[in-house]
Amino acid sequence: PAQPVYAGDLPEGLKKISNIIAVSSCKGGVGKSTVAVNLAYTLAGMGARVGIFDADVFGPSLPNMVSPVNRLLVVNPESKSILPTEYLGVKLVSFGFAGQGRAIMRGPMVSGVINQLLTTTDWGELDYLVIDMPPGTGDIHLTLCQVAPLTAAVIVTTPQKLAFIDVAKGVRMFSKLKVPCVAVVENMCYFDADEKRYYPFGKGSGTQVVQQFGIPNLFDLPIRTTLSSSGDTGIPEVVSDPQGDVAKIFQNLGVCV
Ligand code: ADP
Repeated sequence: PAQPVYAGDLPEGLKKISNIIAVSSCKGGVGKSTVAVNLAYTLAGMGARVGIFDADVFGPSLPNMVSPVNRLLVVNPESKSILPTEYLGVKLVSFGFAGQGRAIMRGPMVSGVINQLLTTTDWGELDYLVIDMPPGTGDIHLTLCQVAPLTAAVIVTTPQKLAFIDVAKGVRMFSKLKVPCVAVVENMCYFDADEKRYYPFGKGSGTQVVQQFGIPNLFDLPIRTTLSSSGDTGIPEVVSDPQGDVAKIFQNLGVCV
């Protein structure tokens, strides 16, 4: 694997994490958080020790997508480190669990908050930390790559052409940061009705990304009411329907990371 571009020493809290996976998209609303959370719970279902870091301080989605009993992060008074909350064995850190409202911050403050949340958390031993990246390709991404050695990136997109252009930007950013993109998830790709398969946004932008950038794996994720309702019930789809076809798609993605 390529050498990561993170600067300086690895923070104490990250030392016992084997793989850090960034789930990224250039646009909001394409299903990045849905993919991050379901990927994390799939890996946990495969027996891995997993954490999720929700790096979106402006619109943290994690608190809606999982149902931890304890919805506030706790700071260890002695070590001053943050203790993640937990749901079904997966460790969780989100700005949405920090007990404050939605952030109104300038760029440097955001980077500081993300840096602090990520690196002062006592994650313990993890096989995978899945990072739900904020949308875009800005300084938050750079900060994350500088403080944490990302192992791999998964890019989430939708089939529209415009989304393809944005994904290309994301792929180039990770390539500059020397983080390999291992998979593209083309979300909301199709739906099945009346025994037929419909592609409401057209086909092919995922294939174009794979061909143009040589990303080895492409996954088509269907539009499912259960996927959108699982975002509201706080139980990830792969947990509520572990034998379903969506769960199978995530198991294949889990093998790639
Ligand atoms: P992002 O993190 O990219 O902003 P989210 O994962 O929050 O996107 O998804 C945006 C909305 O779309 C959420 O309400 C989510 O439940 C819904 N959604 C995402 N993927 C699907 C899908 N494949 N089928 C149905 N609804 C989906």
